[in-house]
Amino acid sequence: MPENYDLHCHSTVSDGALSPTELVRRAHEQGVTSLALTDHDTVAGLSEAQAAADATGIQLIPGIELSTSWQNKCFHIVGLGIDPAYPPLRDATRNLQIMRTERAEKIAAKLEKKRIPGALEAVKKAAGDGMITRSHFADFLLSQFHVSTQQEAFDRYLGSGKAAFVSTAWTELELAVNWITQSGGVAVLAHPLRYNLTASWMKRLLAAFKEVGGQGIEVVTGRYNSDEIKLVACYATHFDLAGSVGSDFHSPANQWVELGRLAPLPPNIKPVWELLSQMRNAA
Ligand code: AMP
Ligand code: MN
Ligand code: MN
Ligand code: MN
Repeated sequence: MPENYDLHCHSTVSDGALSPTELVRRAHEQGVTSLALTDHDTVAGLSEAQAAADATGIQLIPGIELSTSWQNKCFHIVGLGIDPAYPPLRDATRNLQIMRTERAEKIAAKLEKKRIPGALEAVKKAAGDGMITRSHFADFLLSQFHVSTQQEAFDRYLGSGKAAFVSTAWTELELAVNWITQSGGVAVLAHPLRYNLTASWMKRLLAAFKEVGGQGIEVVTGRYNSDEIKLVACYATHFDLAGSVGSDFHSPANQWVELGRLAPLPPNIKPVWELLSQMRNAA
């Protein structure tokens, strides 16, 4: 069976629709052979995912997607091959959960000012023990018919600078990369084209990311076309970063993104899984 990597996806412990078990089973059905579960700022789904992976025979790579701040902008860093028991990372996720709850309270207060009550109770209920994200607010706004799509929820309320946006001081980029690398993992810049950076900002970001120990970049993600893959591959080559592939799957309801349905990594790019296996062998 050919290897099929999907190194970025979400479960119900953050803003995914499937439980870790359901997610692993679906990945297996879709022909994924190695899956990284990368929930937002939490490792809480990894032990359940590992049990499901053991039952199906799929390889699970323990992961996380950390929200980070650099130059007052938010960037997502995927950690692959992390040790979820590494104490600084564990402590950090606990603090991040508190931070996300406090942020949710502020977002809900802003919505209330716009005469949209009840958001906090709804997102807390939807997130359960997991991380509250803006996706939960988008779902709430949809369910109450304040918007007609998730995108509209971000465009009108939740996106940067919009009515219910709350600016957040996330983990500093350097600190987040340190947590990942010191727990034995590889830090990967997630979905690099989603930040709408100019080429010069992108180069500055990648130089800073390399400088603090970043080693990978998502060259292939769920919705990149071939020109976009070529562009990111150029950045990977220029900055000597390993390439990752990840769908960023959240829900079966999104018909455009499926687990394991990704373009291949361009042949001149060093795959991040080679780096991961070198690190495993060295450990
Ligand atoms: P948060 O980490 O709480 O700020 O939430 C970010 C999450 O919201 C992302 O991981 C996406 O899943 C989702 N998201 C962000 N922007 C959009 C958008 N424009 N449309 C739909 N979902 C979005
Ligand atoms: Mn998300
Ligand atoms: Mn992300
Ligand atoms: Mn993601």
